[in-house]
Amino acid sequence: MKFPLPHEKKLPHEVPIHRPPTKLHNSILFSRIAGSLVGLAVGDALGASVEFRPRKYLLAHPVHDMTSGGTWNLKAGQWTDDTSMALCLATSLINKGTFSPYDQMVRFKWWYRYGYLSSTGVCFDIGNGTRKSLEEFTRRQVNLKKKLHIKDDYDVDQVPQKTIDKLQFNVFCSGPGACGNGALMRLAPVPLFFYRVPHIAVELSGHSSRLTHGDEVAIDACRYLGALIVAAVAGESKENLLSERFYESHRSWFGRKALHQDILHVAAGSFKRQGGYNDGIRGAGHVVPSLEAALWAFWKGKSYEDGVMNAIHLGDDTDTTAAIYGQLAGAHYGYQSIPYNWIHQLYANSLIFCIAEWLQASSYRRRKVLDHKKYQYSSRQYGKPKQHYYHRMNGNISKLLPRPGDEAARRSIGDKSMAK
Ligand SMILES: [Mg+2]
Repeated sequence: MKFPLPHEKKLPHEVPIHRPPTKLHNSILFSRIAGSLVGLAVGDALGASVEFRPRKYLLAHPVHDMTSGGTWNLKAGQWTDDTSMALCLATSLINKGTFSPYDQMVRFKWWYRYGYLSSTGVCFDIGNGTRKSLEEFTRRQVNLKKKLHIKDDYDVDQVPQKTIDKLQFNVFCSGPGACGNGALMRLAPVPLFFYRVPHIAVELSGHSSRLTHGDEVAIDACRYLGALIVAAVAGESKENLLSERFYESHRSWFGRKALHQDILHVAAGSFKRQGGYNDGIRGAGHVVPSLEAALWAFWKGKSYEDGVMNAIHLGDDTDTTAAIYGQLAGAHYGYQSIPYNWIHQLYANSLIFCIAEWLQASSYRRRKVLDHKKYQYSSRQYGKPKQHYYHRMNGNISKLLPRPGDEAARRSIGDKSMAK
């Protein structure tokens, strides 16, 4: 699927839906992949109206549903930077059929500058680490233009990754000290695209952080969450995912480099605190407490719904805690377990489901690594599908979703994985 370019000025709900030429939506696997992406977006949208509100405020004004107004004055169901950046990442993986860090940064820049894949058409919120990196990237692109004698901004954005590698253009625009949760909040598309080869999924989860959050702690938080999402997609039980032995029992996924001590501490169960907020769990902007908060919400929650409420009611960075939680919980429970009303209210839900389908359809399948150092991982691609394969959804997701109260449909995929 070719996603629109910024100059086409299409809002996400206006993007024509072209589904892949395969029927995926009945599979358990699709339920988990869509669950992760939709789980991220639903968490983001639920938490958006109370972002930056302290715990005290949340206790006095609890959130039960998608709400309009609040921090960003959004309509109910509209999402923020977490989902916009995740969609930028997903569309790059799908369009390039590979992990192309230059193209990913270009798309993040489009979102920052032109509101690409934003729910409002403008970038209204951006973290410090991300802003600094994107401004640095823009400066580096000016030099690249001179080097390649390119005048037009559009043309420099289209430079292929091969040329970028040849010129040794450094696309990783961050370094030590950038340890916010800005890379963790958008991570899901990477493990969802590379889930078939866990060690590559884990390594590239780390590289996706280096683009904007180059601190070892932020990188390793992404490697750890990437591994958890891959394991959840593979159907591992919740007990396994949250076990203090998870890292040890999946050690081969992490390559030679061990996780940073702070992340090992989390993996060893630092988030398992019965008292939650009263025991020091915080929905903060730093990557370690943020990861802990999301895992705590998953550990304490009995369902997607229960856990997402745990995440949001910690207060502060509500949308991001819920988005990180949603990536993992959605992959575990499956999209059918996310309340129908929330999915129905979610802005541009058809596009998000369609992107989930393409992530699965074009996911990396071969073990062959073309050039390990340059992150050129080839994927099995369908090429350009013929027009007659396309099915327009016309903004209607009813075929994908169980009807409200349709217990037979709800009993299917997500609940099975939950029962494991
Ligand atoms: Mg946000």
